[in-house]
Amino acid sequence: MNLFGGIEAGGTKFVCGFGTGPGDLTIARYPTTTPDETLDRVIGFLKNAELAAVGIGSFGPLDLHRDSPTFGRITTTPKPGWANCELAGRVQSALGVPVGFDTDVNAAALGEARWGAAQAMSDLLYLTVGTGIGGGAIVGGRLLHGLVHPEMGHIRIPHDMVRDPYPGMCPFHGDCLEGLASGPAMMRRWGKPPERLPADHPAWALEAHYLAAAVTNLSLTLSPRRIILGGGVMEQAHLFPLIRTEFARMLNGYVRHPSIEERLDAYIVAPGLAGRSGLLGALALAELALAEQAAR
Ligand code: ZN
Repeated sequence: MNLFGGIEAGGTKFVCGFGTGPGDLTIARYPTTTPDETLDRVIGFLKNAELAAVGIGSFGPLDLHRDSPTFGRITTTPKPGWANCELAGRVQSALGVPVGFDTDVNAAALGEARWGAAQAMSDLLYLTVGTGIGGGAIVGGRLLHGLVHPEMGHIRIPHDMVRDPYPGMCPFHGDCLEGLASGPAMMRRWGKPPERLPADHPAWALEAHYLAAAVTNLSLTLSPRRIILGGGVMEQAHLFPLIRTEFARMLNGYVRHPSIEERLDAYIVAPGLAGRSGLLGALALAELALAEQAAR
């Protein structure tokens, strides 16, 4: 049985683990400080095991193209010290095993497809709604990359300035999806963090409206077989029925499929790996990296 390593690289902490899957993970967490200090700790931890491959799901933006001279790097992050930081190459040369590298949200999508709420599904969308908003997707059985990688948190959605005069907080776009509907946007609009807003607060109908608009656009674009909504804001479970109702209202009967017409509670769902989608997804990236190396 191969042992795999996983690294979930986040802006505030790195979560790493090794094992064969959800049942036997050994996990360690390190705060994100400087790249040198953080990666030394992560690599030191992973050296405790005899690993067949390692997977990294990272915050971005990232260079994911293997033929690029800057492959495996975080590219333009505003996070001090981390712009242009090499991740994949550094882990690969320290551990000497194949390294899979992808966005944190693509990793989470893969983790959910491997062990979670969308097992063996060839087409799925994973959207995280927390400090930021991001999306990962599997389309036709493959992780979606494209020219760079999708940035679903920054799509434009209708913004009714009468209903919601808050201008949005994305430094690039103002009222993009993340600018309107991330946890910090809710905090700034309502003066309280989402977890302290009661379930009957008008914040939630507005939040559901924005997330349903995003889910509608992404569902119409990618036609996923299931949509998984994770992240800190989605821990408020009362959001799910609000989003499903609003999604059905926006589609207005146009898309004909039993998953959408009859089983919406199984179409838009919470993660199956509760808080571990990203780390387990990194483990699944390691599996893929080993299989890809064997195929070369
Ligand atoms: Zn934006």
